[in-house]
Amino acid sequence: MKKDILSLLPEELASELEALGEPRYRAAQVSRWLARGVRSFEEMSDLPRALREKLDERYMLNRPSVLSKQVSALDGTIKYLWELRDGNAVETVVMSYQYGNTVCISSQVGCRQGCAFCASTIGGLVRSLEPSEMFDEVLFSELDSGKKISHIVLMGIGEPLDNFDNVVRFLKLVNSPSGMNIGMRHITLSTCGLIERFDDLASLDLQLTLTVSLHAPDDETRSQIMPANRGRGVDALIRACRRYYEKTGRRISFEYAMIDGVNDTEKHARLLVRRARDCGAHVNLIPLNHVEERRFKPSTQGHMKAFMKILDEGGVNYTVRRTLGSDVDASCGQLRRKMQKDPAKTI
Ligand code: SAH
Repeated sequence: MKKDILSLLPEELASELEALGEPRYRAAQVSRWLARGVRSFEEMSDLPRALREKLDERYMLNRPSVLSKQVSALDGTIKYLWELRDGNAVETVVMSYQYGNTVCISSQVGCRQGCAFCASTIGGLVRSLEPSEMFDEVLFSELDSGKKISHIVLMGIGEPLDNFDNVVRFLKLVNSPSGMNIGMRHITLSTCGLIERFDDLASLDLQLTLTVSLHAPDDETRSQIMPANRGRGVDALIRACRRYYEKTGRRISFEYAMIDGVNDTEKHARLLVRRARDCGAHVNLIPLNHVEERRFKPSTQGHMKAFMKILDEGGVNYTVRRTLGSDVDASCGQLRRKMQKDPAKTI
């Protein structure tokens, strides 16, 4: 089995090349080629031919190819569907903001968390992504779109903390100066609340932003729409958030998708105020994106207004997320689902 060269950290690549009898500067040379998106060792034209052949014998270099690309006519959001080496597909979205371009990447093919409103989890988990595959979601989005990527959010398909080691390695790769040199403070990791991993993440002291998909402040509602809450509970989640904040000094954000008649009552709003205060969290309110297979509907304007009034009165910091790319299925697994049902539709 050949080793995946793109998943090696810079220092690992350097010591492997040294073990092959190569001078130390070779690692930087190879990294530069990898970060340019070459698809074969053959293309690394300033390396001696013998070395290129040696690399080809020992390492694999798999790059994704574009299965479909949709550009929003409304706001320029680009949605890619990439084909991976084993034929699986994942989605990446590029969004442009005033402060730069953000890429939203997937961390797994499918998802096993079972959130009742989300399209990504409908077919379950197929497999986790390799560090190299996540790295290439960022790199190839930049190369193909011509938009310099400044920010990354792990809010595509999959649960990043269910693929912990590979995600951490990906973060180091994308942060490294020989990788894409994207600052950790420009990276957001979103989780459904796998709290047993929070301390591990905090202890790495990465300075990234941790976002928790809360979506309900009480166990009854949360366990109903997010199976990951069962056996963990909101109290424990809030305690884990507070510990994370105290340990890292990094404020946590809550994602809160407003679902009509499910989590948008005044009672929910009042409890959310308490939850946010208990761990100093910022709240992102998101109008639910309608998913074809799901019965949930977004909250009405009236309910959203009443909800926000309570957050205002409670002194909670919140923002209402703009919806981008709604005409290109740019939310959570919708494009991959469509592809599985009707491959002709999106190519
Ligand atoms: N598994 C991670 C990251 C992927 S989902 C997590 O749960 O956070 C990224 C965000 O989109 C999460 O907050 C998720 O709850 C939210 N989301 C999923 N389906 C949605 C929908 N139909 N409308 C709005 N937000 C949705």
